[in-house]
Amino acid sequence: MLTKKVIKKFAFSTVLTILAVPAMGQDLLAKQAPIDRKMKAVDSMALHRLIQAESYESPAADLYNDWNNRYAHKASVLPDTFRIDLRGFCMPTTSRVLTSNFGARWGRQHKGLDIKVYIGDTIRAAFSGKVRIVRYEGKGYGKYVVIRHYNGLETIYGHMSKQLVTEEQEVRAGNPIGLGGNTGRSTGSHLHFETRLCGIALNPALMFDFKNQDVVSDFYVFRKSTYNHESAEATRLRGVGGKAVNGDLDIPQQSYASAQPASSKKVRAHATRFHKVAKGETLSSIARKRGMTVSAICKLNHIKANTRIRAGQILRYN
Ligand SMILES: [Zn+2]
Repeated sequence: MLTKKVIKKFAFSTVLTILAVPAMGQDLLAKQAPIDRKMKAVDSMALHRLIQAESYESPAADLYNDWNNRYAHKASVLPDTFRIDLRGFCMPTTSRVLTSNFGARWGRQHKGLDIKVYIGDTIRAAFSGKVRIVRYEGKGYGKYVVIRHYNGLETIYGHMSKQLVTEEQEVRAGNPIGLGGNTGRSTGSHLHFETRLCGIALNPALMFDFKNQDVVSDFYVFRKSTYNHESAEATRLRGVGGKAVNGDLDIPQQSYASAQPASSKKVRAHATRFHKVAKGETLSSIARKRGMTVSAICKLNHIKANTRIRAGQILRYN
């Protein structure tokens, strides 16, 4: 706790110092975010160590059982529910202009959001993680980057004019990963931005509010049963109305790995399991029910034994 406080203090004073230098103001990517979130983007060795420590207990490690530099996305077993921690985010671009929504478009599914950027605009990693793919696809994404984040999400950045990272590189939220462009099947420079969980494309508007340059909330709880409905709602709330201006041409889906869900036979025996807290349940009653100790549950969920849990909360139990 003490360390956290010190870091917070340090980060805060660093922000103030940076803000006091007007010449650097232009390049302050997190400028648009609330100050508490901004602190997280500030460079410091202590924060770096914290992030490294977090990555050891990364939810991504439990969600994915392979790592390759070949497929932008390959559907794997999707958990019924999964909580994505959005707190360490950085907006990939300072642009607030959406040009195309996620979802059905021209008889196909558009798997991402299109955001207006100009050639040369800095594109930044949305969260900390590790770069999985840096490739060129003339008939699709153009110059693109795929990052697997420690929070379990994967993000894809397409149509860039230049990639600034290499495969296997660890990046932090806010690190420049490329420059805006118009490569691949694209009309007009823009960023094609995808958010995926286990290879399945989720509407980025479920998590990111580009118009307000913020995340929608601290966490996004993915639920298999409701995410399609929520996706449509997110477009209604945060999408763009009318016709697409600059966007992708029809990206041929066959150029990517099949998006068919993996067969249930392939479900890993140790797939992450979650418990939805029912009314009246306590940590000890859940522990009994799941055959484990309270401290084990606490450790998995980064909570304390005296943390109050509420009905509807999702807890990991393996
Ligand atoms: Zn697109």
